[in-house]
Amino acid sequence: MSDKILMKTPLVEMDGDEMTRIIWQMIKDILLTPYIDLKTEYYDLGLVHRNETNDQVTFDSAEATKKYGVAVKCATITPNAARMSEYNLKEMWKSPNGTIRAILDGTVFRTPILVKGITPYIPTWTKPITIARHAYGDVYKNVEMQVAGGGKAELVYTDKDGNETRELIHEFKGDGIIQGLHNRDDSIGSFARACFNFALDMKQDVWFATKDTISKKYDHRFKDIFQEIYDNEYKEKFEKEGIEYFYTLIDDAVARVIRSEGGYIWACKNYDGDVMSDMVATAYGSLAMMTSVLVSPDGIYEYEAAHGTVQRHYYKHLKGEKTSTNSVATIFAWSGALKKRGELDELPKLVKFAENLEKATIQTIEEGVMTGDLALLSTLENKKKVDTEEFLVEVNKRLAELMK
Ligand code: NAP
Ligand code: MG
Repeated sequence: MSDKILMKTPLVEMDGDEMTRIIWQMIKDILLTPYIDLKTEYYDLGLVHRNETNDQVTFDSAEATKKYGVAVKCATITPNAARMSEYNLKEMWKSPNGTIRAILDGTVFRTPILVKGITPYIPTWTKPITIARHAYGDVYKNVEMQVAGGGKAELVYTDKDGNETRELIHEFKGDGIIQGLHNRDDSIGSFARACFNFALDMKQDVWFATKDTISKKYDHRFKDIFQEIYDNEYKEKFEKEGIEYFYTLIDDAVARVIRSEGGYIWACKNYDGDVMSDMVATAYGSLAMMTSVLVSPDGIYEYEAAHGTVQRHYYKHLKGEKTSTNSVATIFAWSGALKKRGELDELPKLVKFAENLEKATIQTIEEGVMTGDLALLSTLENKKKVDTEEFLVEVNKRLAELMK
């Protein structure tokens, strides 16, 4: 390969942990640097370095993402008690994904990667369903009480002039439980804009659903904000692209989703998104085939795989045993970021490379070469299970052909 593809603006590169950190380096060495003069601003979000920098590196990487606009992130460990002793941590550092999402005020979009031979549990789903989950408020920021012996529960709001508004929640005759939820108009608005922008990017419809017939103020406010923003800012653009915004009740949405063929963005309230993203991922076959992108309302993108650091495989790897870890979602994180960078910087060769990388990856699996997790699921007759590195070498064989 004589002349490599040049980049203009660096990608923000966020390295991570365990098996995905091993795969990260392999992807760069085998699939990227032979073709691209890869320009990145590197941040090591591996737990060792997060601990050394008191997690400053996570904040710095998020700020760099704001500056440059596109990041690619490796899976990272979210510390728990076991990790405290394993890594001798100074503190139980917060989830990097949570930190970055809060700084970018972003919405996460998760999309399955479909390949022939792996049939979704819902056979009509021939196109991907992208789930967009609102990442603020509701039950995740709740206040709750367990109460005993009877009494009166009220909702009290004190405005900035000190005026109180009260609403009776319940007159308890005996023991019970109470929960207080909230959300903010600005956060709901950011969520709506992120969904509509992403839909224009993907040229796909947006479906949104709440329980507004029961929750006439709370859920209804979500519905109204979406509709206002759509009508005022997006309707014309959607019509030009021939795509739609569609609102319905959450139970109706679930029924329609099951009967659909896929190919749209399903915007979900925080709790619905938590539950439905696991359902959709499982139904499509594998978490290892799910990509994830964080999009801010002002158009900043961070790409990653939806799965974790695949700890069990990493310990095998450390013992010198062969692993067969699926790198597809991490490859697609890179291709997604490179494609977006190419579009923003008007570099058609970089966009084409990213498309070829995705094509080569899918072609490899559809020709029967795959890692162990997929070999268990695939209905192809002649399939060959390969190890972590062999898979990338096989992808590169096909990529090299496409790049000729
Ligand atoms: P995980 O890393 O997603 O792995 C769970 C299991 O799913 C694996 O043991 C493996 O099953 C299978 N699997 C997941 N990805 C795979 C792949 N690419 N190829 C093949 N098999 C795959 O979840 P976890 O074990 O619960 O979490 C490990 C660490 O990841 C935790 O420290 C957690 O904090 C972190 N995490 C990070 C992110 C992120 O950064 N976005 C997300 C989730 C979790 P088998 O063992 O049966 O082969
Ligand atoms: Mg969940």
